[in-house]
Amino acid sequence: LSTRASTILSALEISTSKEISGVYDGTWKGTGDIVESVCPTTGEILARVQSATPKELQDALESTREAYELFRNVPAPRRGELLRQIREALAAKREELGALVSLEMGKIRTEGVGEVQEFIDIADYGVGLSRMMNGRVVASERPGHSILEVPNPLGVVGVLSAFNFPVAVYGWNLSLSLAAGNATIWKPSPSTPLCSVAVTKIISCVLEKNGIPGAVAGLVIGGKEIGEAVVESEHVDMVSFTGSEAVGRQVGKVVQTRFGKVLLELGGNNAAIVMPDADLSLAVPAVFFGAVGTAGQRCTSTRRLYLHRSIAPEFLSKLKSLYASLIPGDPLHPNTLLGPLHTKAAVGIYSSAIERLKSSGAEILFGGNVYDQDLLRKTGLEGGNFVTPTIAIPTKVNVKDDIWRTETFAPVLTVGVFDELEEAISWNNGVPQGLSSSLWTRDLRNLGKWIGPEGSDTGIVNVNVGTSGAEIGAAFGGNKTTGWGRESGGDAWKQYVRWSACTINFSDAAPLAQGVDFSG
Ligand code: NAD
Repeated sequence: LSTRASTILSALEISTSKEISGVYDGTWKGTGDIVESVCPTTGEILARVQSATPKELQDALESTREAYELFRNVPAPRRGELLRQIREALAAKREELGALVSLEMGKIRTEGVGEVQEFIDIADYGVGLSRMMNGRVVASERPGHSILEVPNPLGVVGVLSAFNFPVAVYGWNLSLSLAAGNATIWKPSPSTPLCSVAVTKIISCVLEKNGIPGAVAGLVIGGKEIGEAVVESEHVDMVSFTGSEAVGRQVGKVVQTRFGKVLLELGGNNAAIVMPDADLSLAVPAVFFGAVGTAGQRCTSTRRLYLHRSIAPEFLSKLKSLYASLIPGDPLHPNTLLGPLHTKAAVGIYSSAIERLKSSGAEILFGGNVYDQDLLRKTGLEGGNFVTPTIAIPTKVNVKDDIWRTETFAPVLTVGVFDELEEAISWNNGVPQGLSSSLWTRDLRNLGKWIGPEGSDTGIVNVNVGTSGAEIGAAFGGNKTTGWGRESGGDAWKQYVRWSACTINFSDAAPLAQGVDFSG
């Protein structure tokens, strides 16, 4: 193993001298297929991880169920105390874990550390929530009666997550689920197994130290088949799925067929709209970060840019100079802003999108190719999945066309020019996805329109803030084919509990509701 990788792994006490166990349900195991963790920057194989066999998965699901039946009786503030300890344990390893995210996923180090910080933040939130997951007392129409709405733990939550946020998405789910009194079983992306092993080690230490069964936060590494088995399992009361629209569509159907609960966080196709009165000194860098940050591999990455005709030339010239200043580099290096794509397959998807744009007659204002191998060789990055961030101007805006309505998970920004805000809003809303959007303006009237009934139809509707980079306080999620799920803050916790409406009669009579008389 390179020194670069072994330093990070040994700081997290992960030994790669032999295959790593990829299943945890109170004990570590895994004798199934091997999944390889491949560094997207260098192509180096970082580790070989043993996934779950079907039998190990079923055992883990059963252990998780048993753990839930015990854990649901632990008082909520005590569950909050566990989260507080998890938060402390994560904070103690923030830099090391952030570096591992960068090494294995390929995002730049500050974003890797930011992702761990997000887990710390949501764990803090869960600590507070553990004393505030209140039900309600509802006025009854019958004398001597009271109605309570009671939140109880839900059961087992299966968390299936994507490669691009290998730590934070699990953090959002675990924190709310644990505060709510559930047990969680995590099926992470098979291409980021080390992040999930490292996180589970940290959490299991805290649980075990407190005498709580480790299966309260179980882990099953594996591919599609393991994912399908979790989704189909009657042991899993709720499936929280983060990933592509294509897989989410399958997952949604399967869970619905067995009447389980499902929370879907799927793809985005996010637009930024820039009005003539926008402050370009803020808008240009924000679009640059939105489109190029994480090499365009955030669900909230800016993929479409709609510019008012009057500022389009100035905006594009400023944006182009920022693109020209980018140099691909090792994401672990503090000066790097542009890391690799996560896989070789993603490079192929990027190249097909560029071909499609070119053949449709789009102007490629910047980029449109993989990096020159000689340039990469000089910096030892020839094994990496580097592509140039691209700005393309299609011949016209037609949101029915694949160019505009498909999520390409790579740094490709398509640009259109508009004359009226209403036109730009109709383009923003005209695609199937509905995750994030952003309007740049200093005019209150535009703002009012944008956030109102005729405005943006996405779940995240920003003003003078880019499409990506959400805080944990507000509920996160999207509408339409993004799946309507909400995670993290706001009222998202209410999905992780089982609600009971309890009518209690403490009188000497038993009247029926609506004055119904059944005495004959
Ligand atoms: P993906 O859909 O390929 O995989 C997601 C997870 O599903 C992985 O754990 C995978 O192993 C598993 N899986 C694959 N096939 C399955 C099946 N048939 N049944 C059950 N599980 C299965 O997604 P990806 O490539 O890892 O991630 C990129 C996608 O995720 C993008 O579309 C991105 O927009 C989306 N995403 C959305 C959000 C959000 O919050 N809306 C956040 C991050 C990523």
